[in-house]
Amino acid sequence: MDLFDSNSSERASLPRNMIENSMFEEEPDVVDLAKDSTAFPTFPALDPDEVTYEPRSSRLLVRGLGENDMDDDEEDCESSARLLGMSFMNRSSAHRSNSSPYTRQAPPRSCSRPSSRTIVVCVLFLVIVASVTMVFYFLPGCTFTKAGCHKPNKTNPIEPVYPISTNGELFPWAQLRLPQSIKPLSYDLTLNPDLDKMTFTGRTVISMSILHSTNRIVFHGANLNITKATFKLGDGQASDVTVLEYKPRQQLAVNFSEELKAGQYCVLTMEYSANFSNAYDGFYKSFYIDKDRNKRVLAATQFEPLSARKAFPCFDEPAFKATFLIKISRKKTYMTLSNMPKAKSTNLSNGLVQDEFEKTSVNMSTYLVAFIVADFTPNTKNVSETQVSVYSVPEKNGHTEYALTITSKLLEFYNNFFDINYPLKKLDLVAIPDFLAGAMENLGLITFRETTLLVGKESSLLEKQVVASVIAHELAHQWFGNLVTMTWWNDLWLNEGFATYMEYMSLQEVSPDLETGNLFLSVRFRALDKDALNSSHAVSTDVNTTEQVEEMFDSVSYEKGASILLMLNASFPGDQQFRKGIIEYLKQFSGLNTDTDDLWNSLTQTDKSTHHMNVSQMMTSWTSQKGFPLVTVNLMGNQVTLAQEHFLLTSDNTTHTSSLWHIPVTYVNDSCSLAPECRQVFTLKNKSDTFKLSKNVTWLKLNYKNTGFYIVDYGKDGWSALAQALFSNVGVLTHEDRASLIHNIFALSRLGRVSFLQVINLLKYVSADTETSPVTEALLQLNNIYRQLEKRQESNLASRMKNFIMSTFRNLTAKQTWEEEENVSKQELRSALLEMACNLNDENCTQQATSLFKKYMESNGTLRIPGDLQQTVFTVAGRSDETWDALFNIYVHATYDSEKRKMLKGLASTQNPQRLVQILSFGLRGSLIQTQELPLVISTMCQSFAGCLFAWDFIQENWDCLIEKFPIGSFAIQAIIKSVTSQSSTQAQLHKVQAFFSGLKERGSQMRSVQEALETIKLNQCWMDRNLPTLRQWL
Ligand SMILES: [Zn+2]
Repeated sequence: MDLFDSNSSERASLPRNMIENSMFEEEPDVVDLAKDSTAFPTFPALDPDEVTYEPRSSRLLVRGLGENDMDDDEEDCESSARLLGMSFMNRSSAHRSNSSPYTRQAPPRSCSRPSSRTIVVCVLFLVIVASVTMVFYFLPGCTFTKAGCHKPNKTNPIEPVYPISTNGELFPWAQLRLPQSIKPLSYDLTLNPDLDKMTFTGRTVISMSILHSTNRIVFHGANLNITKATFKLGDGQASDVTVLEYKPRQQLAVNFSEELKAGQYCVLTMEYSANFSNAYDGFYKSFYIDKDRNKRVLAATQFEPLSARKAFPCFDEPAFKATFLIKISRKKTYMTLSNMPKAKSTNLSNGLVQDEFEKTSVNMSTYLVAFIVADFTPNTKNVSETQVSVYSVPEKNGHTEYALTITSKLLEFYNNFFDINYPLKKLDLVAIPDFLAGAMENLGLITFRETTLLVGKESSLLEKQVVASVIAHELAHQWFGNLVTMTWWNDLWLNEGFATYMEYMSLQEVSPDLETGNLFLSVRFRALDKDALNSSHAVSTDVNTTEQVEEMFDSVSYEKGASILLMLNASFPGDQQFRKGIIEYLKQFSGLNTDTDDLWNSLTQTDKSTHHMNVSQMMTSWTSQKGFPLVTVNLMGNQVTLAQEHFLLTSDNTTHTSSLWHIPVTYVNDSCSLAPECRQVFTLKNKSDTFKLSKNVTWLKLNYKNTGFYIVDYGKDGWSALAQALFSNVGVLTHEDRASLIHNIFALSRLGRVSFLQVINLLKYVSADTETSPVTEALLQLNNIYRQLEKRQESNLASRMKNFIMSTFRNLTAKQTWEEEENVSKQELRSALLEMACNLNDENCTQQATSLFKKYMESNGTLRIPGDLQQTVFTVAGRSDETWDALFNIYVHATYDSEKRKMLKGLASTQNPQRLVQILSFGLRGSLIQTQELPLVISTMCQSFAGCLFAWDFIQENWDCLIEKFPIGSFAIQAIIKSVTSQSSTQAQLHKVQAFFSGLKERGSQMRSVQEALETIKLNQCWMDRNLPTLRQWL
């Protein structure tokens, strides 16, 4: 999956995938609220979760509205949004009480909080449960021990405490992960979606092999109403069976009075009905407005990670691979797509058509199953043995050409690079109007947001870079993830780290004009920032709850995963060894599941070089422990001493770890610093080590081109020597190395290792730098401080900081033009500089942008604003009361998604409370503004002080609606939390954030992103406390 980031880059013209988008959002981190993995017990003993507790019988308190007007969930959410305006403008009355005269009790709804009556009932229930628990507790045996109770071993006289099924019977399984006794072999799925009623019926036939004798079959199903179930053992007769359901874990089960014997085969057939999902997962409904303003309905799927179970009963874990035969009925006006090519279509007696797809030719995990019912049209081309098609809504078919071309090139590249051909005869890429992630790699049927697949002929290379990156990521998954799959979600990085790494690597070969190097560099910086927090986690980490599964889709799995692969590849002496190891791994485990050790073992085996290094030993130090090392270097003549410690940001310096890494430390020196041949390597395995250079040098730069995942401290003298060298000659280091120094010194300042004066000393050279990556990194870091000052309402200091930023980059900004620019990195540089200048109200910039917007309006949309300048122009237009309505009008009628998103960011940049309410309300309802864009809207609002207060109110007020749309722990929720908290730095802000999230309890208080948010605020606070005096003096 690609987590297209809805989140805010300040360079809106660079929408990119999520991972990378975080580049402008955040501030580093730190602190003591370490998230201890023990907080997530592997086997919760009997608790309210384990019983048939049906919460939420009342709904959100709706104040000030009539009683009659809200009958569905949408309206419920919408009304809350409407009220936000009141909340914002009347902040003093923000603490509402249930006894408010406006409060009313409403009928049960999903988007709700429990009423007081429910709470009383639940409390009583909990008391009873607690009593039962105590009774169990005093029973002898292993009931509550992990070891004793996990094994579903019938000979064990002591059984675990089973929960209660919805029908009151005991549910025969008490763990999150399914038992291993049954293996599904094939699924035969028949689906009958009704797009008018928004429901579907289905029939699922699962053929299974019994691996260990058992008397139960346990599998998954969520929100499915099973109407009939039959079971057949071997060649015997099929007979009716009862399917038990345990809702909290979305599990289904069938009990048997007689044991099913190992080695037998059996078939379970189920008929069921269900509603389409209202969120973005499962089998969900979507719609778009066509060019004649008609509403067109469609249905699509998004199953990763845990939602195949919402569409059909199945063994919904990645290790349960099987084959799938899929049949879908449709009206004649629709078409259907699924993983495999269509085998035949049959007219049904009810006037519908049933499409049957070929049986999958390879075993596949359930999360990769996909089907779509829509009225899309394709653009098709044959590549090698594969028919590649790009599908979109009919009127956007003209925007599919670029995707088709780049996909064809990438497919050929991967076929060759992996030395294994893509396994299917067809590959469909489909742009779905409502889609939350960036894209999803379903085997043979990759689904995308429109923004990440469709691009006009005249679009800028920067826009094409987004599309190409996402396609490259998803195509890489056809091998990494689809062909070889992680056994469990704890190793998600094997999918995502690889696909992220391959996305940059492949594009550097296939389309070097897209210059993805800067992008990947900034991705690595942001990954370091996040991994420096105490709440970070190891790349490969325990996952024991559904929320933890969702949370694995984060920066560590994607960005850090990709970063350590780059480091590994860069540390091999040749350029083919890495590739050979990968090919070996893919061939050995084709069609199977693996864990991280399998990969390292494959890579170790192919490393036949004379500098034999134990890949497994080295890389395990990077995947099994959280965080990364800080390398300190001490240069005395020609003697170099290196030391390593955990780079851990904490607000009170109390947390120490004894982590050690195998670090391939690279370095260049003052006499040879630019060419790859200058690079030398020293592997640091111990706490500290010493080596000798062949001659004396005045400075060393470690981590050549920042290909290693560590931060370097050069000591006071080392930093001054480097600052001096750069001040004398910017070109003495590569631009990646300059960006790396800027990133590292800000990180060290947050750690408290260098004074802010040292930071300023290095920055003295920056006004002479004209390259994208060092300039954008410096801008990002300084802007972050500026935003924090603004949010502390230190207006005097903020304005001085603004002047500093403007003066540092004045010359370079003045050189930027407002005409079309061909070169990608120049576009990146220009958009960053001009956005900065306009956001800081530089008059020249805002005038240019305003005049360009006026010309654009007058031309009726025929004038094209260069793609990289659109965000700047739309943001200036959105911030002005005079042009906001005009921009909104253009937004509503715009069809091209990439431009639309930039306009939306512009609209959300307004400071006008009524307009902010309006945007949030539209977003929550999904009318005019798609709900999938809420994270983007919120992150944009959070760029300003007032907007952020407002967004914070909105989130608190509508939390239940938000987690109904975006699952707890999901990347969308992670992004929202980060947006509203990452630039806070006061005790009061900390208290508010803490109070709100701790009050959520099971509705999200345990999320890692909450810990990150609290740590980040504390760290910001510490940094401010430490550096405000310096800032006051220096600015
Ligand atoms: Zn992915």
